[in-house]
Amino acid sequence: MMAQTMPNFLQKRAFLTPDRPAISYLDEQLTFKQLYERSYKTAEGLAAIGVKKGSFTGVLVKNSLNSAIFLYALQLLGATAVMLNNRLSEAELSYQLNDANADFLIYEASFEDLAADAASPIPNIKTFPLEELDSVEGAECAIEEEVSLDAICTVMYTSGTTGNPKGVLQTYGNHFWSAAGSALNLGLSLDDTWLCSVPVFHISGYSILMRSAIYGMHIVLHSHFDAKKSIEDIVEKKVTIMSVVGTTLARIVDELGEGRLPETFRCMLLGGGPAPLPLLEACQSRNIPVYQTYGMTETASQSVTLSPEYSLAKLGSAGKPLFPVSLKIQLPNGKEAANGEEGEILLKGANVTQGYLNKPKETAEKIIDGWLHTGDIGRLDEEGFLYVLDRRTDLIISGGENIYPAEIESVLLSHPEVKDAGVAGVPDSKWGQAPAAFIVPREEHAPSIEALRQFCLERLAKYKVPRDFYLATELPRNASNKLLRRKLPDLIGERGQ
Ligand code: ATP
Ligand code: MG
Repeated sequence: MMAQTMPNFLQKRAFLTPDRPAISYLDEQLTFKQLYERSYKTAEGLAAIGVKKGSFTGVLVKNSLNSAIFLYALQLLGATAVMLNNRLSEAELSYQLNDANADFLIYEASFEDLAADAASPIPNIKTFPLEELDSVEGAECAIEEEVSLDAICTVMYTSGTTGNPKGVLQTYGNHFWSAAGSALNLGLSLDDTWLCSVPVFHISGYSILMRSAIYGMHIVLHSHFDAKKSIEDIVEKKVTIMSVVGTTLARIVDELGEGRLPETFRCMLLGGGPAPLPLLEACQSRNIPVYQTYGMTETASQSVTLSPEYSLAKLGSAGKPLFPVSLKIQLPNGKEAANGEEGEILLKGANVTQGYLNKPKETAEKIIDGWLHTGDIGRLDEEGFLYVLDRRTDLIISGGENIYPAEIESVLLSHPEVKDAGVAGVPDSKWGQAPAAFIVPREEHAPSIEALRQFCLERLAKYKVPRDFYLATELPRNASNKLLRRKLPDLIGERGQ
């Protein structure tokens, strides 16, 4: 069967609604027509240095207008963007460039040294600074006016929380259906403006660029997250939707104090990890509409979202699968779980990846009969709402009982003197494994271990109360700021309890 095609997203959008605002960055605002023209110009520069349809092009950028234009330019050419997290070390970048067998590395000038070092072990890679693309004598460039929905638009590496990051193949079809699924859930209004302060190299940010072109929606792009600036722009630029993770939402809540967001603001899309209940409650008391979502690089952004009419009744749930997505829970014996039973979360849909780049074995293990085995554990309630419990690899089995670190962390984080908390399993002679807690105290007020234990005893079943508590100055996190629970036990020798 011939793969289905669609008109090039940005080109089509510029034709449909040329004069609508597309993107604002600092003091600049471009309409879709202007955005298309600028992207076309950058595409000419890229073509002049040899980038063409199918070129694997490493992208090492920060959030900026130029970067957004560049990402659209790659789409115009039909080149595949290999998205690199700019917080990675040189060795980690080399690993990904080599794994992807990248033909080019385009970097923002401020990353010049990093880019040179990262690219040095890669044979035949060509590096070029983003800022200079527009001044290259433009070559004739062929625009991909029609894109195959099966063509690889982006290769995006997973965060590497459970091991080495894997290059996820994301097609135009994956991105299109992800954007469609989101709109069918959140609704779409002509006034919508999406604030993007999450990184564009991550699916959370890139999916906002895609939605903008597909919906004809205005984006306010920030170079990085800043709570004060976010609130300012929500008010002044009439932002209606913002993507956040737990830590950034918490900072917005802190910054707001007793204040309120304007009525025009309709959605905090919260994803990336488990949402601590105290944060959801703090938002609820300030009338901040939070949509909890569950998704991953492999599903080109959110796959499950809690609609606002349920946010009170189903606090803590990630919601129901989006319209194009199917979900089931699988037991270890391969059977489908009944409602209430815990098992692995499986997802299927046109937003789900075809697999990992150059990794047929991992792909075959993770995608079986079209179902993505997420590696996350969850359960459905009797109405079909998903509760994400934790990653399978982080599960603690103590005396035959399943213990989920996220649940204990959520309790610890609700303690006023706890700034950060992580929980991991440690060997236990009696129970096999027992939970140990690693606490970063707020300021100097380190709570006593006894007080923490008591706090947990009042809120958790006894077998879930951490056996040991350790104080730490910082918890191990990866370049996406995700907690690396497998590295928590390394802290034990460093600073005793
Ligand atoms: P790696 O696959 O390399 O270990 P990663 O899984 O952290 O890295 P991402 O694709 O960025 O890489 O993250 C997706 C994961 O984040 C999900 O599989 C899940 O474990 C976690 N996650 C996302 N949303 C939620 C949520 N609402 N609740 C709990 N966990 C979540
Ligand atoms: Mg993962």
